[in-house]
Order: sequence, then C-alpha cells, then structure tokens
Amino acid sequence: MEKHELVIIGAGPAGLSAAIYGKRAGLDVLVLERGAGGGQITQTDEVENYPGILHATGQELAEMFRSHALKFGTEIRRVDSSKVELRDGKKILITKKAKDTIEIEADAVIVATGAHFRRLGCEGEAEHIGQGVSFCAICDGAFFEGYDVAVVGGGNTAVEEACYLTKFASKVYIIHRRDEFRADKAAVDKALANPKIVPVYDTVVEKIEGNGMVENLVIRNVKTNEASNLDVAGVFMFVGQEPDSECVKGVVETAKEGWIITDESMATSVEGIFAAGDVRRKHLRQVITAASDGAVAAMSASSYISGLRH
Ligand SMILES: Cc1cc2nc3c(=O)[nH]c(=O)nc-3n(C[C@H](O)[C@H](O)[C@H](O)COP(=O)(O)OP(=O)(O)OC[C@H]3O[C@@H](n4cnc5c(N)ncnc54)[C@H](O)[C@@H]3O)c2cc1C
Repeated sequence: MEKHELVIIGAGPAGLSAAIYGKRAGLDVLVLERGAGGGQITQTDEVENYPGILHATGQELAEMFRSHALKFGTEIRRVDSSKVELRDGKKILITKKAKDTIEIEADAVIVATGAHFRRLGCEGEAEHIGQGVSFCAICDGAFFEGYDVAVVGGGNTAVEEACYLTKFASKVYIIHRRDEFRADKAAVDKALANPKIVPVYDTVVEKIEGNGMVENLVIRNVKTNEASNLDVAGVFMFVGQEPDSECVKGVVETAKEGWIITDESMATSVEGIFAAGDVRRKHLRQVITAASDGAVAAMSASSYISGLRH
C-alpha cells in the first residue's frame, strides 16, 4: 500500500500552510485536493486583510500559497473524494479518482477541508457572488462605504455582522423571516439601538437583481404576502456556515453540525489526526487563522511522527 508520513486533506490556505511547514520539517508530505485547490478564498476578487499583501484577488493569493508549497516539493494530488478510516490503529485514506480507488497509509493526517457558507438559494444569488452578494462582512464590508446594504439572517452572526457593517454602510437592513431575531438579547439590543440598522421582520428575499453589481432585492412579507423592492448595493448572507468534515465523520470528535474539536496543538480526539482551518470549531474563520492553524498542525504532526520513530 502507498505510504506517506503526512497526508493533508485540502489544498486551501490551511492545507497549503501545513504543507510548507511539513516539507520544511523534512516530512514526506502528500496533499489531497478534490477541487481546483486554493479553497474558498478563490471566490473573492478582493483580499486586503492578509498582512503583507496590500491587495490581491483571492485567486492570486491562492496561487501564491500553492507556488510556495510546490517550491518545497509538495505533491498536490487531485482526487474526486477522500476519507479517513482507522484500521488496527492505522490511518488509511481511501481516495477515489474516476473509477480507481487508491488506499494510502499515513503516519499522521491533517484535515484541512474547510467550510462553506450556506447559500440562500434565491434567484440572482449565484450570479452576484462577489458582485454585491457576500458571505463575509470582515472581508467585504469596507467596499460598501456610504452605500445601503442588507443582511439576511436573524442569528448572532447576522446581528453582530450587521453592527460591524454600520462602520461603512449608511444603512443596514436586517432581513429576517421571523418576527424577532434569534440572536442573544445583548446583541439584539445593541443592534436595535444603532440608528443605521433597520430591521425588516417576517420577510424573505425572493430575488436579487442588478446589471452586473447588485442594485435591488425583491422581498416578500410572509405574513401579508406583499412583495416590495429594496434598493441596496450589497447583500450579506448569514444563514449559516457548514463544515466540510464528512471525510472524518464518525472518526474524530465533532461539535454540533460537524465542526472538528481540537486542542491548541490542533490535535483531534484521535492520536495522529490533526485538523486545521475553517473545519475546526473556532472563533474567527479567515485566511490568516487558517494559515496559522496549518503551521501549528504541521509542527504537531512532525512531533507526533518523531515520537513514533523513537
Ligand atoms: C466569498 C468569500 C470571501 C472571503 N474573503 C476573505 C478575505 O477577504 N479575507 C480572509 O482572510 N478570508 C476571507 N474569506 C474566508 C477564507 O476564504 C477562509 O477562512 C479560508 O479559505 C479557510 O481556509 P481553509 O484552508 O481552512 O479552508 P478552505 O479555504 O475551505 O479550503 C479547503 C479545501 O479543501 C478541499 N476539500 C474539502 N473536502 C475535501 C476532501 N474530502 N478531499 C479533498 N479535498 C477536500 C476543498 O476543495 C478546498 O480546496 C472569504 C470566504 C469567502 C467564501
């Protein structure tokens, strides 16, 4: 069976940082990636909060991470899917590519498979992602200086991010399908006391319109069934985020909804399996924290592998 010291699942910022640190620590590293690589950051055209990079598109930043990992001789292998199994204490990766199934044994595994924002699923959403539809206020809020924007959702993220957006936007509508927000009372009180925030209860977004950039939302009041238009330049979706942790489902301990639980060294509940980046249960999901997690996970994996040898 093919064998590697360290197998990393996912070639986003966390996985590629782990590869850089792993290779520089002298490990035999294989990265498995099911997509084009680069991770979620490739979905945005504007990154300006990664230190040292004043401005880059997500694609450019992802390419810098990839070239850096390749410079140290990392193998990044494209697979259709990969998952981890434990057999007699051994960590086996089962990868599929077209009709072939290849099994790989690893001394240590880093799960860096990321997460995805739940989409609302309304008409016009997909074609306006990056053109006014955003899933990240920290990332994109500053682009809406002086404009009216909308936030969709009613939980803590929606309400807190709406407050954050008032630093830039002139007005922030919070569109929620129920008659009150689900967020904590303190967060709701703070939001409602903000003169720039306008709650729009009992309402759903049916359509996002705009020629190129977002210009208008068609919304509907679910109680009166009345449709109306909301003139905004941006709409932030906070209807939930989901981890991509299926590849270790039932193998490592996860929190509710599948976020992988780790300690500070990125160790999971299974010895030799580490997790890094957005797939972890954590506070801030950004490129900088994913890269940092990847570095920590690789160094922890390196210590674990040295321990196996001695
Ligand atoms: C639209 C948008 C804009 C953003 N803007 C910013 C910004 O400006 N600044 C910022 O810091 N952050 C931004 N973020 C957040 C940032 O992209 C993430 O925090 C970061 O990419 C997380 O990195 P990661 O490596 O943990 O996961 P990901 O980036 O999600 O990468 C995970 C990788 O693993 C692969 N994968 C998943 N499952 C498997 C499997 N079973 N087998 C093989 N491969 C698998 C995926 O294909 C993916 O390439 C933005 C996110 C989005 C969606």
